[in-house]
Amino acid sequence: MYFRILYDEATQATSYLLADLDVGTAVLIDPRGTDLPVLNAMLNEHSLQLHWVLLTHQHEAQEAGEQEALSALGAPCIERDCRASDLIVFGNEHLRVLATPGHTSGCLSFLWRDRLFCGDLLTVNLCPHQPLPALPDALWDSVTRKIFTLPAETLLFSCHAHRARSVTNVLEQRRWHPWFCGAGRDEFLSRIATASIDTDNHTDTAANSRRPLFASTNE
Ligand SMILES: [Zn+2]
Repeated sequence: MYFRILYDEATQATSYLLADLDVGTAVLIDPRGTDLPVLNAMLNEHSLQLHWVLLTHQHEAQEAGEQEALSALGAPCIERDCRASDLIVFGNEHLRVLATPGHTSGCLSFLWRDRLFCGDLLTVNLCPHQPLPALPDALWDSVTRKIFTLPAETLLFSCHAHRARSVTNVLEQRRWHPWFCGAGRDEFLSRIATASIDTDNHTDTAANSRRPLFASTNE
């Protein structure tokens, strides 16, 4: 097991490298095209062959040339339309794909051992491309049926950090997530509707970086 986090101070974007060092195979989760040189360096450090590029989601307003840059990594890309419960194999390791629409319509999450890489699924106003969920109803179903039903100790890794923190766990989010904590479906949708007021102020990533990622109610 080999696990590395790549964190960008300016945007708080967070990418992940997972590898089987015995076999020399790796996957990248939510890599950014602008990080291509360092991504290649991370792979070359242990002579890793990249098997998959896994994207939890993408937005139309992504950086120009992003797709071309990721293609240069030379591995097939999985970003949506994966069948639920598909397995992604690299060496002796594997990830399970979960269809988790909500933040966007095609969001995927990737479960590896005790870790779930869930992109912006549980972030609150932090995705610079889209601060609020595209499909609140689907988000409720994804989180309550597929995320909160995982073991409490399951680690949740986001693709945007908050104050350099990109990991939480299922127990913490069940108890403290500002949209889900203590809410039924109707209350949850009401909380998002109220939060939508903030979209008018969603003018810069710096302002949003001050808002909670995996937020607690006392923050
Ligand atoms: Zn996003």
